[in-house]
Amino acid sequence: MFFATLPWFSPLLHAADSAAPAADPGTTWDLTPLYADEAAWRAAKDRVAAGIPKIKDFEGRLGESAATLLQAMDFVQGLRDEFVRLSVYASLVLDENTRNSAALERTQELGLLGTQFAQAMSVIDPELLVVGEEKIRGFLDREPGLKPYRFSLLEVLRAAPHTLGREAEGVLSAASLVTGTPGSLYGILANADMPWPTIKLSDGTEARLDQSGYARWRASANRADREAVFDAFWKKVRDYERTFGVTLFSQMKTDWFNASTRKYPSTLAAALDADNIPEAVYRTLLAETNANLPTLHRYFKLRARMLGVSEMHYWDIYPPIVALDKKFPLSTSRDLAIHAVAPLGAEYQKLFADSLSGRYTHYYPQPGKRAGAYMNGSVHNAHAYVLMNYNDDYESLSTLAHEWGHGVHSLLANANQPSPDARYSIFTAEIASTQNEVLLLDHMLKVAQSDDERLYYLGSALENMRGTFFRQAMFAEFELAIHEAVEKGNSLSGAKLSQMYGDILRRYHGDAQGVVKIDDLVTVEWAYIPHFYRRFYVYQYATSIAAGTAFADRILAHEPGAVDTYLGLLKAGGSDHPYELVKRAGVDLATPAPYRALVARMNSIMDQIEAILAKRNR
Ligand SMILES: [Zn+2]
Repeated sequence: MFFATLPWFSPLLHAADSAAPAADPGTTWDLTPLYADEAAWRAAKDRVAAGIPKIKDFEGRLGESAATLLQAMDFVQGLRDEFVRLSVYASLVLDENTRNSAALERTQELGLLGTQFAQAMSVIDPELLVVGEEKIRGFLDREPGLKPYRFSLLEVLRAAPHTLGREAEGVLSAASLVTGTPGSLYGILANADMPWPTIKLSDGTEARLDQSGYARWRASANRADREAVFDAFWKKVRDYERTFGVTLFSQMKTDWFNASTRKYPSTLAAALDADNIPEAVYRTLLAETNANLPTLHRYFKLRARMLGVSEMHYWDIYPPIVALDKKFPLSTSRDLAIHAVAPLGAEYQKLFADSLSGRYTHYYPQPGKRAGAYMNGSVHNAHAYVLMNYNDDYESLSTLAHEWGHGVHSLLANANQPSPDARYSIFTAEIASTQNEVLLLDHMLKVAQSDDERLYYLGSALENMRGTFFRQAMFAEFELAIHEAVEKGNSLSGAKLSQMYGDILRRYHGDAQGVVKIDDLVTVEWAYIPHFYRRFYVYQYATSIAAGTAFADRILAHEPGAVDTYLGLLKAGGSDHPYELVKRAGVDLATPAPYRALVARMNSIMDQIEAILAKRNR
């Protein structure tokens, strides 16, 4: 789940279900720094609601003078900051217990207020374009108070070639009422209406294979169970191949409609332009992934060997290659995570440690609590918060390091940038979190007490690289292929999508070389991926883990200046285009180097695993 629901507010979400006993107050977050109580929240909401209609007082006046522009920007920013604070508070309270109907009502109220806000704001950008670049640059040079708005104002001007006239913008804005339909239909069918099958596992468990059931049972240690899970789940999805084909094809057409009416040559160009990412980043990612498929195949062969299977199938990808019977209680995990980030220096480590020990994390599962984990650091002058479903296992420790990687990123960005420039793009976000995962692995390998334990950490790191790098790049390649097909005027049926996906899936998994056997049944997997309803989103997981690995390599090798340039990237927040920020910190994602760093790391991990296995066989 990675979908923003409100403007200017997009928590970074990571799904990982669990369910256990209720939390004690010491392990929950304290939200009073956001609002002292309900009454304070409501009073603030009323202030924002009263302020929104006043935005139009600035209509037609933005070009009057630098002072008027500053007054307008300050007024809008004030409303925006308060609106974000209202939203964060409302969503955090709701996520503690999603059955809390008062909390649900508050988020719905804010949804309505957000729509009014967006409508009131829709006059601002077109007017800035009418005022024009020359005049605005003049204002920026003359009025130092406008400095915090410089980047965002220039961003509005950058969009000029793709902004239409008032009438056409009105039509596009009205069209947005219907352009979300494919995604909504997909969501209802995939999450609510699918008649998911139930099967009996070898130990007698009745397993209902909905999306979370599938994610859980496909990792079963019993191979026959895994095969049965795949068979039942994908047969059911296959029954709806035609319907999912229609929803995805509709989404592709919608995306192309939006891109072409805004005069972009392709949907990819439109998507990348939002953050000014060079197309070379996308192309280089795909080229490097394909060139390095032998590394992925090496991993699959190693996995087959460790699982003891002679012909590896798609259902052998998910079970852990080694079991780890070790508990990670919260206090132990906090210690381990804090030690793990030591290479990032004292400033970072202190922020990280204070975050883990202060009341900024809602740690344990409780009835009604939202599943998974996320960080929300959207409130500029407040601490970041993390929601966990802590479960005393290594996965929980790793998630803790990951989420507070996002959290400290937000703390540093908020402390070093004015509010309009603090919020960073998804393109840089996952760098901060994967970085911490790499550091955690490095630390765990140092403190591991047995080869089995070491194998577990190494195996979990490999699986993370497969899932976050190779698999997301594979999705990115498929996504590009189907968008391009639609742009050429081709029609896509469910069967056609399965054929296109199957070709890519087989190539990535070395089906022809006998690495992983891909059965026809699973080529409908595209129908299960919600991210395709958010154009060109997934590639950023792959670029982020590559960049995160490249930074971690330098930091762990004690390269002079490596820590400072990395922290500089975090502190920069969203003050410039994300590709430029990462490049300035020394990692150019339009070149092969960072992708090769990731592949080298993956090979080095496999070398370590093979060395342990060889030692055993001696
Ligand atoms: Zn993340």
